[in-house]
Amino acid sequence: MDHFLYRNGALYAEDVPVAEIAAQVGTPFYLYSTATLLRHYHLFNEALSGMDHLVCYAMKAAGNMAILKTLADVGAGMDVVSQGEYLRARAAGVPGERIVFSGVGKTAEEMRVALQGGILQFNIESEPEMETLNAVALELGVVAPITVRVNPDVDAKTHAKISTGKSENKFGIPISRASAVYAHAARLPGLEVVGIDMHIGSQLTDLAPFEQAYTKLAALTETLRAEGHDIRRLDLGGGLGIPYERSNEAPPLPVEYGEMVKRVLGHLGCEIQIEPGRLIAGNAGIMVSKVIYLKSGEGRDFLIVDGAMNDLIRPAMYDAYHEIVPVIEPAPGTPQQPYDVVGPVCESGDTFARQRNLPVLKADDLIAFRSAGAYGAVMASEYNARPLIPEVLVKGDQFAVIRRRPTFDEMMNRDTIPEWL
Ligand SMILES: *Cc1c(COP(=O)(O)O)cnc(C)c1O
Repeated sequence: MDHFLYRNGALYAEDVPVAEIAAQVGTPFYLYSTATLLRHYHLFNEALSGMDHLVCYAMKAAGNMAILKTLADVGAGMDVVSQGEYLRARAAGVPGERIVFSGVGKTAEEMRVALQGGILQFNIESEPEMETLNAVALELGVVAPITVRVNPDVDAKTHAKISTGKSENKFGIPISRASAVYAHAARLPGLEVVGIDMHIGSQLTDLAPFEQAYTKLAALTETLRAEGHDIRRLDLGGGLGIPYERSNEAPPLPVEYGEMVKRVLGHLGCEIQIEPGRLIAGNAGIMVSKVIYLKSGEGRDFLIVDGAMNDLIRPAMYDAYHEIVPVIEPAPGTPQQPYDVVGPVCESGDTFARQRNLPVLKADDLIAFRSAGAYGAVMASEYNARPLIPEVLVKGDQFAVIRRRPTFDEMMNRDTIPEWL
């Protein structure tokens, strides 16, 4: 459920008409709902109630400072994957003891920054990384808390580019090597083993792969404990999917996920960490765009809109589906017709939807791409010298631009023409 609904014939974000924001900010732009972000965070918190737990928002999904502060203020932890994300989380008010550091390529410099600034744990992905962290910790005279990310070799049955839990993926260490790797960690004086980490992929629409993975995790916990490791924390990753296409079967709810977690892992007495990104931010954001031209091709009509693949790359990159709705609610009985919805970028990949049935639209009409809050703004680029589009946050009847559109001069001035040219 989200807070982008029609009221009196117009699309609202909470209590603000979307068209009013468009008139002030200009299109295209991202628009987020505070109530939806908080609702999703609280759903996870409630789903894990009764277990010692921490919900660490995977901020790579949507990392604007205002979004981070919204979640930090209600006690969310954060899952970060780079120095930049770590610094943003801290600046948004997240204490180090609520931050976990994930990712396969953490550098010594990133480790240093997090160890000095405060960190709950590093989720280690390889033995060379373990050695580097050990060296950095010893150099700083501290002990680094770690889990090792274990790859359970289950098929998450999601898009190949966001599947991470099969043995051919670059993530984690094979579960068959866990005992050896944990023994190695125990010999390194700069590290303290605190638990085990897993993350099998994103946009999972079924609980079965999670349950398979967590069943292996439960067995591994017993094994590693028997081998003398103090496994007290289990980081279960993120990955729960959202309904992009409303007509499709709905993915499992956080409460169902939570019940499964309690059933499979509850007896172990571990603190549970989860790292949801998409489910917190995905349906909490839309991208608002305007129709520039309606172009009739041979046997198909193109709706050319001012948003493009550089602003929202998910359809081009993951074949993702985004529901498209007009900002003015179509009157009952408005005729529909199929459109190819495309952006202005000079690539055929700049296509949001092919032969999508939509109410009849014309130039200057506003449309919204729903479920664009996660992996939207954060993956945007300035391809075709198009400015990064603004981000706007709504809370009740208030809204604010939380990242403004850069000027063309600002964009040009980031380049330097050498003296000798
Ligand atoms: C991307 C990622 C997440 C978040 O995944 P979602 O599908 O957005 O919930 C969590 N943990 C790790 C390690 C990730 O790489």
